[in-house]
Amino acid sequence: MTGTVHLTFSTDELVATITLGAPDERAITLTPSRLESFTEALHRVAKSNARGLVIRAPSLDSFCVGADISLIQSVTDPSKGALLAAEGQRAYDRLEDLGITTVAAISGPCVGGGCEMVLACRHRIISDSPSSAIGLPETKLGILPGFGGTYRLPRLVGLPKALDIILAGKTLKASQAYKAALVDEVVPASKLFERAEEIARNQRPPRRRSVPLMDRLLSSNPLGRAVVQSRAGSALRKQTKGFYPAPPCALEVTARGLGRSRPAALAIEAQKLGELIVTPESKALVHLFFLTEASKGLGKPARKSIEGAHALVVGAGTMGAGIAGTLARNGHQVIVKDTTDSALKRGRDHVSKELSKLRYLSSFERAAVANRIDWLQFSSETIARSGIVIEAVFEDMALKKRIFKDLANQVPSSCILASNTSSLSVTEIARELPHPERCVGMHFFNPVEKMPLVEIIRGASTSEDVIARVAALSTEMGKFPIVVSDVPGFLINRILIPYLNEAVYLLQEGHSIEAIDGAALSFGMPMGPIRLLDEVGLDVAAHVSKVMVDGYGERMAVPPFAEKLLTLGRKGKKSNAGFFDYQGKSATPWAGLREALSLPAAPAASLSTEQLTDRLTLHLVNEAMKCLLEGVAGSDAAAAEKQIDLGTVMGIGFPPFRGGVLYFARSRGLDSVHEKLAQLEKKYGVRYSPFRAEEARKAAQ
Ligand code: NAD
Repeated sequence: MTGTVHLTFSTDELVATITLGAPDERAITLTPSRLESFTEALHRVAKSNARGLVIRAPSLDSFCVGADISLIQSVTDPSKGALLAAEGQRAYDRLEDLGITTVAAISGPCVGGGCEMVLACRHRIISDSPSSAIGLPETKLGILPGFGGTYRLPRLVGLPKALDIILAGKTLKASQAYKAALVDEVVPASKLFERAEEIARNQRPPRRRSVPLMDRLLSSNPLGRAVVQSRAGSALRKQTKGFYPAPPCALEVTARGLGRSRPAALAIEAQKLGELIVTPESKALVHLFFLTEASKGLGKPARKSIEGAHALVVGAGTMGAGIAGTLARNGHQVIVKDTTDSALKRGRDHVSKELSKLRYLSSFERAAVANRIDWLQFSSETIARSGIVIEAVFEDMALKKRIFKDLANQVPSSCILASNTSSLSVTEIARELPHPERCVGMHFFNPVEKMPLVEIIRGASTSEDVIARVAALSTEMGKFPIVVSDVPGFLINRILIPYLNEAVYLLQEGHSIEAIDGAALSFGMPMGPIRLLDEVGLDVAAHVSKVMVDGYGERMAVPPFAEKLLTLGRKGKKSNAGFFDYQGKSATPWAGLREALSLPAAPAASLSTEQLTDRLTLHLVNEAMKCLLEGVAGSDAAAAEKQIDLGTVMGIGFPPFRGGVLYFARSRGLDSVHEKLAQLEKKYGVRYSPFRAEEARKAAQ
């Protein structure tokens, strides 16, 4: 039966085992019924002769993924949230108080409430399986660990490490967890349960690493705790800029809980969880969680078919090297081709540099990843085993067509031909290919290693099977895929460009770079639009802008003076000069901008930050809504809305605590957004012409 746990005893009855779910359950969640069943099992263990208890999952794939997230989503009353937390806390107190040797045998993910459960055990051992991971990601959902995590973790690993995990919502791999003294031992997966029983019988007790002396000192006295809390507080203010209530609240609860008794600390933890769980930020972050799950689901049907697929990456530049490294890190054999040795060397150096940043990998593991990539000049090497070609050469239609035409006959007929183009039509690239159904757009974002989104572009002939396989590969690479139509700018650039253009219009009106970028930052965007233009490169932006005007007409036009910067050799960050001047890590708005471009010294009418924010961000909303209504993200409106929300957060940096652009629009009220756009259109013209309100009201909620 699902939603319960199973209790068994060894033949001598000295060791009890609680298995957290039924044999066929894959992802064990903590529902109220499972917690009740768990508490009941603990009760029976307490009354038995058992001297030890092992807690395990039915399989080695997943230990426990924590509370059921739909439950978190459904809570709208803080006292209900606090009650839910108190129930979990009571169950884990009972586990902690059992008075026998308790051992958690962890394999696969053990997160959230699952992690809090094992914190209440005397010992934790973890399998060496690559999927093993343990941590407390609650702050990523806008809440805090509410089943005793803030109370037990600092007592186990010291306050500094506990805060490091709780505030960022981190999960640690097995070796990292051992190093952090969060688990006692890393065990080969095949020996996990045997070893757990041995420990439960008090034979060969494990030896956990000790917490560093300094961390112990800082945790054990009020002054030390105050120092740690104050340092963590200022780091948090910088990172979250006051937009996220959960991390500062978790900081307060964790640091202060260390000086309190268990009942007192847990009562505060439950109360604060109740307060956080009903915040709009938590609701938006939970919404986002479900969007990521939906994205992972896109590739599920084809997961098996891409396992171990060999890849051929054409072009060893910024994107090609990033794609090759990410594929290799996820276990794929890769061949990278380019036209010169120097280009290949640059690509190889790029991969080495990125690998050296992954501190949790041993040098042996890093070498193994690097060795999966074969760097070749473009020649007639054998490519017959390729399951996918990913092309990342210059943005040139004729070149891309030629490359695919050449390769089409050399690779197997089932091989996918994917282009990383950012602006060219996939349908056109595929037009003369023998099997156009296998040609698809696979638009990674820069830098590939960091950016989590992949836009999969469906050309006119692309087959469903190819879409599913590319989605599966993207998920396997640790990315979130969305599937979009082959329209100019695809989905993400189409939504982004009017927003960037508006920043240039505002400059033209005489507003300062500081005011424009500041308005976007105050909304929660990670970077101002003018700064973003410099990052993208003004040459690239000019090219994309042309594509957009060709596709959508004047409403996508950018004031011509922006291109004048290019004639002055100011291409943006890449040339250390654009709208900003760059020196080392510092960027300062270019003092000569107004004079060089004959801009007014001040705007004719000043605008408040809120008005500036509306001028910018309502473009994102408007274009996103138009994409939804035109079916750019698919004809199923509910699924399309999810993809658009996810895409804007992962691809544009739309603030996660606002849940994505359409979620934001609905929270603000579609009618009020529409009215505002209509007013802006009257004042500033066609570029604000709003989406069709009636259709939008009818589209999925
Ligand atoms: P890049 O200039 O850094 O690299 C292109 C590479 O392709 C060069 O190493 C070049 O030698 C190689 N090349 C050219 N002709 C070739 C051929 N015939 N065979 C093999 N290799 C060849 O470019 P990039 O920034 O990596 O962009 C590559 C593609 O990715 C473009 O289509 C671009 O629009 C797209 N893209 C770029 C970004 C970005 O921010 N850079 C983001 C998303 C998509």
